[in-house]
This record gives sequence, C-alpha cells and structure tokens, in this order.
Amino acid sequence: MSLSSGVALRPHPFPYRASLALASDVDGCSPDRFEEIHRFLNTREGTPSGPGLGLDVGDSFWFYCAHPSVRDVVSYFEGVSDRPSAAAVRILGWIRRGWIDCLHSYGDFEQAGGFRRGMAERALAVLKAEGLDIRVWINHGGPFHNLQNLMHPRSLGDLPRYLSPNGTDQPVLEYHADLTVGAGMRFCWSQDLLTRVVGQDRPCGRLEHHQGADEAVPALRRLAAAALDLASVPAPAPVRRALGKACAYLGVPPYESNDLIEPFHLRDGSLVYRFRRYGDYRKDAPEDLPALLAPRILDRLEETGGSLALFTHLGKPRTRRERAFLPDEAAALGVLADRHREGRIQVLRTSSLLGQAMLRRSLRWRAEPGRILLDGVDDPVFGRFLPSPKALDQVSFLCPEGTQVLLEGRPLPVRAFPSGVRIETA
Ligand SMILES: [Zn+2]
Repeated sequence: MSLSSGVALRPHPFPYRASLALASDVDGCSPDRFEEIHRFLNTREGTPSGPGLGLDVGDSFWFYCAHPSVRDVVSYFEGVSDRPSAAAVRILGWIRRGWIDCLHSYGDFEQAGGFRRGMAERALAVLKAEGLDIRVWINHGGPFHNLQNLMHPRSLGDLPRYLSPNGTDQPVLEYHADLTVGAGMRFCWSQDLLTRVVGQDRPCGRLEHHQGADEAVPALRRLAAAALDLASVPAPAPVRRALGKACAYLGVPPYESNDLIEPFHLRDGSLVYRFRRYGDYRKDAPEDLPALLAPRILDRLEETGGSLALFTHLGKPRTRRERAFLPDEAAALGVLADRHREGRIQVLRTSSLLGQAMLRRSLRWRAEPGRILLDGVDDPVFGRFLPSPKALDQVSFLCPEGTQVLLEGRPLPVRAFPSGVRIETA
C-alpha cells in the first residue's frame, strides 16, 4: 500500500467487490454425476438442471477409495489397487479443463483405513507423468481411519516419527507430507478451519466471530465463551491459552483470525498455507445451497469485500435424485452467476481464490509518478520469484488515470477503469 502516492492494490480484480469459490468435497459423487454438475456450473450447455451457468468452478478428487460399501466414485485408482479406475481418464481430463483443482486427501479411507506412504508415491507419480499440478489439499472424513490427513491432531500424514510407549522411535508408515509438499501442495485445509464468518481477508472482530457461533451450542454457553474470549484479550499469554481452552470446552473456539490463508508449519516442519472455508457441518449438501447462498449472505460478502471458499458437497444430496440440482438449488447458483456477470462477486476456482490471496499478501511493488513498478513476489511459502505476466492477470490497482504498470521495466497490458487499472494479459 502506498497511500502517499494515492496508489493501492485493489483487494479484488476490477470490477468485483468480493470473491467466492465453491470448494466442494467429492464425497458421494459418481463420475457421471460429477460430469453433470460441472456441465451445469462450467458450460453453457443445456443440462438436466437447466442451461449451464458458464462459471469457472473447480472441484476435488481422490486417488483411492477403501470404503467397503462405496463404489462408482471420482477416484483415479480402482479401490486401493494400482490399477486405474474406469473414471481415471475422465479425471485427468477434468484436471486439465480446470474442473478439478483440489485433492480431497489421497482417498476415502473412512471405516476401512489402510493408507500408506507408498500410495502417495504412486499418486504423485501419476500427476508428474501427466504434467499436472495440484496445489490444494482438503482433509477428508473422520479422524479414526483417515490417517492420511494433515494438521489434525489424530492424523498421521505430517508426522514423520512417533515415540512408542517403551520409548522407541518409530517411523510413521502413513507419513507423506515431505512428498506431497515436495510435489507442490501449498494450501491445506483441516476440519478445525471451518468458519461461520461470511468472507475472509476483511476486518472482523471477536464479536462477529461469536455472533456467528454454532446455534447448536446452548445460548448460555455461547455467551460464556464470548465473555471468556473477550476477557482474554488483555491477559498474558498463559492466561490467554487457558481461557482459549475454556472457550473450546464450551463449544465455541476462541477467535484466532479471519485471514483466508495463513502460513503454517506442519508437524514435520514443512511450511504451507492453511486456509479457511465458510460453512456449517450440518449444511453440507446441495439441499443447503439456497441457505448458504441466500441473498443476505451474498449481500454481506459484497458489503464487507471478503473472499470466501464455500464448504459443501455438491455431489452428496441427502436423498436420491434424478438430477444434480433441484430447481431451488439451481436458482441459488443462478443468482450467484448473475452477481458474477454483473461484476459484483468474482466466482473462481478455489486454487485461484487462494492464489489471489497469496498475491495480495506478497506482491512487492512501488509507486512512482505515473507508474507502478512490480518487484516480484516475496512469499514465506512460495519463496521469492518473478511472476509471469499471466500470473498477474487480473491484478488491479487503484491509481491515477494513465498510470503504467511495469514488470522488469516492461509495461504490462492494462485496462483502465474510472479509479485505476487492471492487468489483463489474456
Ligand atoms: Zn470428504
């Protein structure tokens, strides 16, 4: 930010006021249903849910499915074998088209377990051989069998060794974070990163965090947690920690931050970004889209200028159905698409939303009279690098009319808008 020169990095590309990604977990979704969902969301074709919306929406996938009673899933390998499944070729195509940009952990090990490091090696070899890059990891399912998960206290994916009860140091057979991060995974989500604050990367206080607390927690407990959390603000660190534990015990964790992404050390020391998703564990199905995307929620997102990754399971309706979206669900998605077309809410893939958040934090630039000089990116997780003009596409600055934007001394193509410019290389 360079206030003295009247130049500032705009939080969203012009003309958008806010940004939203549908960050869907692929649970319960058959490959045919996946195709139908994304024909509706991403194309302009006629679909059983209505005319396609033409948005840029990514999704997630698995490499394995160990679940004893689940078949016909979006999983690259058949079961836990090394044989490509019937959906494997389609999955690779969806990644290339941008319909998939997140890994919902290596697979569905719910109820069965069985993940091992070798499975990560096999999966990453496929991505490498195909020249594909997946940067977003989303933990899956409960903690008892999904030991491939990261960051969760009961998962093992980022724990290289453990001490057995007799004191011997043992390697953890499920450890894979060194390989996964080494292959380019940079943004990770775990189950404690679900927030009810509408939109991140915008000002939010403890009170808003507590106002949005889970209604299933009795009101008196919510109130007590809020009081303890507020009391912790001026307290010394040990007292703050104790009060935070008391809040969590009451059912409402203390307010930490409202950042969309935060640098985070996994237990093996790897540095990644952890990210927040907005939502509610009891509103995780397509039936909940009208509530999650209600006009008052979208209005709030626009008013506050936030960036939101929506937690949902687009392919896991609560009851069997003939088509991907029922009329009220398709209508809710249609309203979102309208706001995107009207230049109000930018709808984009989760990986793009998180990538834009990283650029917002780490793009280094200077303002001189009549021009903005980009010095590259200096980021704790991605390191120092000079972004390609393509990577800067859609970065917008508030600046005086006629301002040039230069990267390594060369002017970038920009589109002027009434109070600034937007880099447009496409
Ligand atoms: Zn899941």
